[in-house]
Amino acid sequence: EVKEAPWGLFFMRENGRRRKMKMKKNEEYQIRIDDMGVNGEGIGKVDGITLFVKDALIGDVARVKIMKMKKQYGFARLMEVLEPSPWRVEPKCQFHRQCGGCQIQALSYEKQLEFKQNKVLGNLQRIGGFTEIPMEPIVGMEDPWHYRNKAQFPVGKDKEGNLITGFYAGRTHQIIPNRDCALGVSVNREILDIVLDTMTEEGVEAYDEETGKGLVRHILIRYGFKTGEIMVCLVINGDTLKSAEKFVDKLVQIPGMTSISVCINKKQTNVIMGDTVKVLWGQGYITDYIGDIKYQISPLSFYQVNPVQTEKLYGQALEYAGLTGNEIVWDLYCGIGTISLFLAQKAKQVYGVEIVPQAIEDAKNNAKINGIKNAEFYVGKAEEILPDYYAEYAKTHNGETAHADVIVVDPPRKGCDAVLLDTILKMQPNRIVYVSCDSATLARDLKILCEKDYRLVKVRAVDQFSHTGHVETVVLLSQLKQKPDDYIKCHD
Ligand code: SAH
Repeated sequence: EVKEAPWGLFFMRENGRRRKMKMKKNEEYQIRIDDMGVNGEGIGKVDGITLFVKDALIGDVARVKIMKMKKQYGFARLMEVLEPSPWRVEPKCQFHRQCGGCQIQALSYEKQLEFKQNKVLGNLQRIGGFTEIPMEPIVGMEDPWHYRNKAQFPVGKDKEGNLITGFYAGRTHQIIPNRDCALGVSVNREILDIVLDTMTEEGVEAYDEETGKGLVRHILIRYGFKTGEIMVCLVINGDTLKSAEKFVDKLVQIPGMTSISVCINKKQTNVIMGDTVKVLWGQGYITDYIGDIKYQISPLSFYQVNPVQTEKLYGQALEYAGLTGNEIVWDLYCGIGTISLFLAQKAKQVYGVEIVPQAIEDAKNNAKINGIKNAEFYVGKAEEILPDYYAEYAKTHNGETAHADVIVVDPPRKGCDAVLLDTILKMQPNRIVYVSCDSATLARDLKILCEKDYRLVKVRAVDQFSHTGHVETVVLLSQLKQKPDDYIKCHD
């Protein structure tokens, strides 16, 4: 008989007597992993105590070592897989355990998708309190490798003093030398080889985080999946790149090279990019497309890193919005206006709101280069701009309520501010489309929205970040007064 108790204590009956036990650091246990945490870590129980085990997969039986105990649970390290999970596969990358980039590469892709689907479903049930969840099948990738269009490689030295580049190990700044990341594009390797060889030949030093000395900090590479355009930006701890022409001469040989620049960052912090970019060769940006919309992307611009899945995600958001061409639409947390411009093609008028001024500059520029005239953008907090607009509208329209047909939100992980949700409910749009990167805060917000006037119509998860624990979700809510199939009719 085993009973749970706080602080990793548990009680066991031994020869008819109750014994108090305590799990301690460095002790080893055998465990069966029967669940997966939000970051892809394995979860199992030993004598009633829950343990979180990084790199252990659902279905594994493993030997683990306790690293840290908390009140009701603990963290353990995977020492040995005794019976492998039926869903274990051969990982593509030999660094998959140390590297901070991937968490569940050893899990079959099918099972990854199932895990993500269940994670969204579970949160909507537990946190949202929903019982009937109209969930569509998760949208996976046809080929879940080499999907990232952007990578930032730190540059440093190994113990022998050789230049290295690759990725940070999970939660540290130790560089794992790897120029062949399985999530990145293949041209990364060629570019990294050229940059490091040239640094060696020209005696250009790597930046040292501890001393603050040395020049080259990071190598930023961006690739336009639709255009084949390539950007290389070296982040440097100085004003100029020594022997810049040597770097340029070699990099321009790569087909597709479009933009070569340096970004100046002399601050001794963890922030990768600085504020100033100097173009060494070509344009200051590359161009790429999501759907039919063209984007200009500079080294400092935000741009979705998985363009293939982004197109599917925003396509789904557009479908849920059910536009016919007559609608007034708000796109809150609009970033560089990706969703806004998607929607503008089918709506009467779109208003985008975003807190980062530079992103709004990009959004406006992107509207312009696409000839889109029915999208307007505002800088500010969604939870201030929309309530202000609502109040101002009533003042100037004899107390009339500001109307919107569709409101789209795509907030960061912390979800929507309560004041914003309140204003959305006051405005009573026919449909609300919620795009989310954290299904826990999504569930919390949906609970509020669906308390009275809205109904959950559709939920769809999209896998934007294969081999990690992240999952994106898009949800359609319909105002209860709307006929249930209204949005479908609109779409047809
Ligand atoms: N749909 C966007 C990405 C949204 S990510 C795109 O495709 O570009 C979430 C965005 O919300 C980020 O751009 C972030 O800067 C912005 N943001 C964060 N807090 C905000 C707030 N309180 N009000 C408005 N925007 C905010």
